[in-house]
Amino acid sequence: MRTSASLDSGESETGRGSGLVVAVDGPSGAGKSSASRGAAAALGLRYLDTGAMYRALTWWLLSRGVDTGDPDAVAPLAAEPVIEIGTDPRAPSVRVNGTDVTSAIRSQDVTEAVSAVARVPQVRAHLIARQRDIIASVPGIVAEGRDIGTVVAPEAPVKVFLTADGAARAGRRAAETSRPMARTRADQERRDRLDAPQSAKAADAVQIDSTRLGLDEVVDIIVGLALPYRSRKDR
Ligand code: C5P
Repeated sequence: MRTSASLDSGESETGRGSGLVVAVDGPSGAGKSSASRGAAAALGLRYLDTGAMYRALTWWLLSRGVDTGDPDAVAPLAAEPVIEIGTDPRAPSVRVNGTDVTSAIRSQDVTEAVSAVARVPQVRAHLIARQRDIIASVPGIVAEGRDIGTVVAPEAPVKVFLTADGAARAGRRAAETSRPMARTRADQERRDRLDAPQSAKAADAVQIDSTRLGLDEVVDIIVGLALPYRSRKDR
């Protein structure tokens, strides 16, 4: 798969960065995206939503009528579409073969199919390699996903594992999607089960339980963890 990051600003002079990497992992609905974007904007770093890359591939497979539940059908296509992902925390964007799919990848169809696609080893190998390329191409970045602190960027000096209890997570998702709470919670539990093999808390990650925290409070905690490294490496 060819993927590229749009570097609208913040590139290092060489185009290859060796800056701060902040890894934010955790289950769906814990508030990773909002917190990661907020922290990246506050710290002047780029932002990478790795889940959007798995979603983009899934969207493309569905658009081609591929059976996303069949690993043998998915594996040979893992490298086919050109996925471009923007890294501006204030305006995340995703394109597949030139088509803007920023909204389409959030559809229920994609959400239901993505976990099976993300489990296919060839898919993970391709996307993890691209994620590492993107992280290495910018001077500093907040990367969010399930395996950033353990697999994609285990050398990241700042690692956060963001959680929230099941009811809070389902409540947030239900509010975002206007779907019934019970259905949302059941879907979330199914996705948690399917994502479990790919999801892990790094031993050196700081766990933040966002159940009773507002977005600003979570952002402040992440910024506080990252600031000492930001001043040393990037100022
Ligand atoms: O973060 P989001 O919920 O949008 O991610 C969509 C899906 O992509 C997850 O449910 C998971 O299956 C997969 N994913 C992954 N590894 C990541 C990020 C996401 O397997 N680093």
